[in-house]
Amino acid sequence: MESLLVKESPLLLPLNKEKTVYDGFITVQERDFRIRILLPPDHQLKLAKLVSIDTEFRTLRLRAEDSSGRQHVVTVKLKPKHPVEAPWCSADLPVPLAMTWTPQSSLGHVHTQFLLLLESLAEFWAVLDEIDEKTWVLEPEKPSRADTMRRIAIANNVSIKVEVDTRHPKMLPECCLLGAEHVVTPLRNKLNANMHLWNPDCSILQNLRDVLEIEFPSPATHEKSSFSAECGICYAYRLESAIPDQVCNDPRCGQPFHQACLYEWLRGLPSSRQSFNIVFGECPYCSKPITVKMSTQKP
Ligand SMILES: [Zn+2]
Ligand SMILES: [Zn+2]
Repeated sequence: MESLLVKESPLLLPLNKEKTVYDGFITVQERDFRIRILLPPDHQLKLAKLVSIDTEFRTLRLRAEDSSGRQHVVTVKLKPKHPVEAPWCSADLPVPLAMTWTPQSSLGHVHTQFLLLLESLAEFWAVLDEIDEKTWVLEPEKPSRADTMRRIAIANNVSIKVEVDTRHPKMLPECCLLGAEHVVTPLRNKLNANMHLWNPDCSILQNLRDVLEIEFPSPATHEKSSFSAECGICYAYRLESAIPDQVCNDPRCGQPFHQACLYEWLRGLPSSRQSFNIVFGECPYCSKPITVKMSTQKP
């Protein structure tokens, strides 16, 4: 911490052994100002928790480690009327960061409340960490601690999208199977038939294995490239954040496409027809019938 503070403001010197009092100069608009900082006023907040502080000493980033050793950071912006006004806090979380604050509160209170909130999410993150570690997650590309959704590869062009509940992370999540009908239908039937086997004491991954009666391909068994087949129209895997999730239903074809690419392609063909927001046409690869919904998100 000391090194960070001093690195950003080389004219500041710690005055006490605890390194909570600094004196020196900061440069604002090319003028030097004398400044003295008491950092932070309460004893609960050890300096090791401070990741960074801006040159106006208004925005602090505090580190917190949860009981499973995951590292988190909360950004605290002090309002002009601090501490009468509550500071503005934000962090990479799947739930709103609500803090109680009184004019007597300190940054130590913020840190303690943040730690409590982290513990309440420990099981949720444990469920997602297991998925991230033991399967190939296709979406999001780089999951953050705030992401509740995972799209997990099952086989080439077959995946399952799960939306994990932050408060009940081991309950049966909202599931959506994606891929060609001839592969997805048997999986969907298994999911429906075995749903009663869901055991809320086990993780989502374990339950999905049992209910779908499959083993998920993992980084230990497969290369990710086996599941990231390119779009048959634009030849890319990612189109902005979208991945090719429209698959030709013909078992011998199975070509994946981006929704936006397939929609534009089919709309441009005179043989296609449109009904409401669905376009009916032919697969650009095998000429078998294929349909696509107009993308609701911006293509
Ligand atoms: Zn495409
Ligand atoms: Zn096809």
